[in-house]
Amino acid sequence: MRSTDWLPVQGMSDIAAPEVFLWQELESRARRIFRLYEIEEIRTPLIERRDLFDRALGESADVVRKEMYAFADRGGRQLALRPEGTAGVMRHVAGRAGRGAGHRLFYLGPMFRAERPQAGRRRQFHQAGVEFLGPPDPVADAECIALQVHLLREWGLEGFTVRVNTRGAREDHAAVSDGIRAALGPRLDDLCPDCRVRAGSNPLRVLDCKQPRCGDLVETLPPVTAWMKPGAAEYLEDVLALLDRLGVSATRAPRLVRGLDYYRQTIWEIAHDALGAQDALSGGGRYEIDAAGQTIGGVGFAIGLERVLLALGAAGVRPERFRRPPDAWIVCAGEGLAPQALPVLQDLRAKGVACGADWTGRSLKAQMRAAGRSGAAYAVVLGEEEFRRGAARLKRLSDGAQADVPLAELHQAVMNECNAFRGHPG
Ligand code: AMP
Repeated sequence: MRSTDWLPVQGMSDIAAPEVFLWQELESRARRIFRLYEIEEIRTPLIERRDLFDRALGESADVVRKEMYAFADRGGRQLALRPEGTAGVMRHVAGRAGRGAGHRLFYLGPMFRAERPQAGRRRQFHQAGVEFLGPPDPVADAECIALQVHLLREWGLEGFTVRVNTRGAREDHAAVSDGIRAALGPRLDDLCPDCRVRAGSNPLRVLDCKQPRCGDLVETLPPVTAWMKPGAAEYLEDVLALLDRLGVSATRAPRLVRGLDYYRQTIWEIAHDALGAQDALSGGGRYEIDAAGQTIGGVGFAIGLERVLLALGAAGVRPERFRRPPDAWIVCAGEGLAPQALPVLQDLRAKGVACGADWTGRSLKAQMRAAGRSGAAYAVVLGEEEFRRGAARLKRLSDGAQADVPLAELHQAVMNECNAFRGHPG
């Protein structure tokens, strides 16, 4: 075996203890928040037909053109690992008559993009995403942004900024592209080589360029609303006014664009200072998407969980804190007692006591150490003598206090104390 065979594929990671404790916590808090907003979960397949993404995201989008894990299966079908969650949700919605407008769905799961791995950029990463289906409405957009801020706060994040802009209506798109192209025309020499090409083919992308020289030039352009019909700016102002009423602070980002053609009206990004070059925690917007022969409208967002973890890590949050220790740990005081201890253990578990044990034949002392390391509240010590009496020695690990407890009352004794703990979540 080569020495690196234990590594996962480049750009992908195992998520194990202790990190996984924080993942579980984020997921359970997200589910709690989604329930408050009456959003149902949807789990779509990780693999879809490739043309779903071509159509929904547009064949010119970078995620489709350059980053998709696309392949032919054994039957020659053209498939792809999902690079994002919205297209699959739209396919599902298209097939469920009557589940359109007003429906709200969320997903949590892995996405795949063949990007160059770096900090905050993985080839398998995870998103929590939400879709509110329905026609354009500033109320829905403001609620969707407010939900996202609620969720980030619930996760313990501070120091993020919400930047909002508009893509205008479908009819505005060509005018915006033409306007940017014309404004850049006389100044092509000031752009990076890539943007000189983009200025002709896809001028919106110039607004996204991370090169400082392009950024400086973009700052001098008029806001994109300058090229739109007045309705777009009014819609945006309605969203911002609602956010203000909700106490959600959001800044106007007149040159923010999002990479996909399907966006209409409100678009936004949430960035975090601690993330460095890849500072986007999340992106969202209102869209009209072609999937399975239908055009579906809605508003939604996706948050990158790896980046949330990076930001929490920078704020000093340690995943170990979210480990859930067992209530009790079974310790055998003597050799060959495991067959008698196992039924006691199973009985405790059947009654709801989370219980660990170690069958590797270690000494009593080593088992007690394992009990301590596990973080259990109690060690349940079982020896020949205890079994004869139908009892166990219950040792409270915080202070070493001990008592003999009949086996039939064991779960009650453990639960009393542990419920007291559970009543005061740290
Ligand atoms: P996007 O669909 O590109 O707007 O992505 C939404 C969010 O997913 C971003 O703001 C990131 O937090 C996250 N994300 C996107 N691509 C990656 C990646 N390659 N690695 C890690 N997170 C990502």
